[in-house]
Amino acid sequence: MHQQHHPLLSASLGTQREIISFHFGEDNKRQVYIQAALHGDELPGMAVAWFLKKRLQALECAGQLKAAFTLVPVANPLALGQHWHGTHLGRFHTLSGQDFNRKFPSLGEILATKVAHSLTQNESDNKQIIREAIDRHYRDTIAKTELEAQRFTLMRMASQADLMIDLHCDWEALPHLYTTPHAWPDIEPLARWLGSEVQLLAQISGGEPFDEACCEPWLTLAERFGKEYPMPRGLLPVTLELRGVRDVSPEQAEKDADAIIQALVEGGYIAGEAGEAPALINPATPLAGCEYIHAPHSGLILYRQALGAWVKAGEVVAEIIDPITDQITPLIAEFGGVVYARHWVRFATAGMLVVRLAGENAKRAGSLLVE
Ligand SMILES: [Zn+2]
Repeated sequence: MHQQHHPLLSASLGTQREIISFHFGEDNKRQVYIQAALHGDELPGMAVAWFLKKRLQALECAGQLKAAFTLVPVANPLALGQHWHGTHLGRFHTLSGQDFNRKFPSLGEILATKVAHSLTQNESDNKQIIREAIDRHYRDTIAKTELEAQRFTLMRMASQADLMIDLHCDWEALPHLYTTPHAWPDIEPLARWLGSEVQLLAQISGGEPFDEACCEPWLTLAERFGKEYPMPRGLLPVTLELRGVRDVSPEQAEKDADAIIQALVEGGYIAGEAGEAPALINPATPLAGCEYIHAPHSGLILYRQALGAWVKAGEVVAEIIDPITDQITPLIAEFGGVVYARHWVRFATAGMLVVRLAGENAKRAGSLLVE
C-alpha cells in the first residue's frame, strides 16, 4: 500500500486541505476506484472504507489482487469541516451553496479532439491512450476554487477506473444503489452480496453527478470512434447508498466491506472463489419510476409507512399535522412503490421533500435526482 497526498487550492488564508488516497496492487492493468462520503456526513461508507483498507492491505500482501485499487476513505474534507453550532452540515457547500455531488465536468467532447489522431486498432492501447488523455487534461486544468480543486482531484483518479464504487448514504433508507443500464449486468453481483433492496437505473439522471461524469468520456468516445476503432467498454459506475446517516455500526460496516470484497472476487478483481451470492431482493427499476412526495404545507410529519413497505397508488404514506389548526394533510402515493428513503427530520417546511418511493415504471423525465 502506498499513500498519496493531493493538496487542494486553499479557499482561505491559513487553511490547506488535501485529499489522501491509498493505492494497492499497482502493477495490475485493471483498475478499481472506491471513495466514501462525497457528501461529507455519510459515515456508513467511511466506516466501510476503513474495513476495506485493512482487507485490501491483507489481500495485497497475500498477492491476491488482480486489479490496481485506489481507495479514498475521506472524499470530501471540505464538508467534513462544515459545522454550525455543533451540527454537521453535509451535502451542500456552505460557501457556494452547491450540492457536493453535482456539476462534475463532462470531458467526452474535449477528449475526442485530443485522442482522435492517436487511436489504434488495439483495444487495450486505446484504453491506455484515453486514460493518459484524462490524466493530462486534469494535470493541465487549473482549478479556480477549492471546491473545483476537490472535484478535479477525485475525477482525475476515478475516471481512469474500470469499476468505480461511490459510497454514499441517504437520510433514512434501505440499502439501495444507482447505476446505468449499460453497467447493471456487471453491478448486479454487488447488489446481491450487499443485500441492496432497490436498484435505480438511468443513463442520464441530470445534474452531472460524480458517477455519471466518470463514465461519460468512455461512453462518448466509444460512440464517436467505435465504428473505426476497437474501443474499450469503459468505466462501470455505481453509487451505493448504505442506508441512513445514523446507520453506522462496526458489525454492519464489516459485513458491507466483506460483501464488496465478495463481489470483487466474483468480478475477477480479486483472486479466489466467491461462493454463491444471495438472490437479488428486488429487480432493478428505472430511476424515472421514483415518486418524490413533498409536504404541501408546514407541520409535524407522522409517517404511516415504514421503510421497505410496498405502497399502492392512493395509499397514505405520511401525514402532515398542524397541531394549532388541527389540519391533517395526508401524503398520498400517486403511483406507488417501495418506501426506500424518508427524511430524518420530523418537521416539514412547505414544499419539503418528505419521502421517496421506487415504482416499477418510468413516469418522470428531465432531472431525476433529488434537488
Ligand atoms: Zn451522498
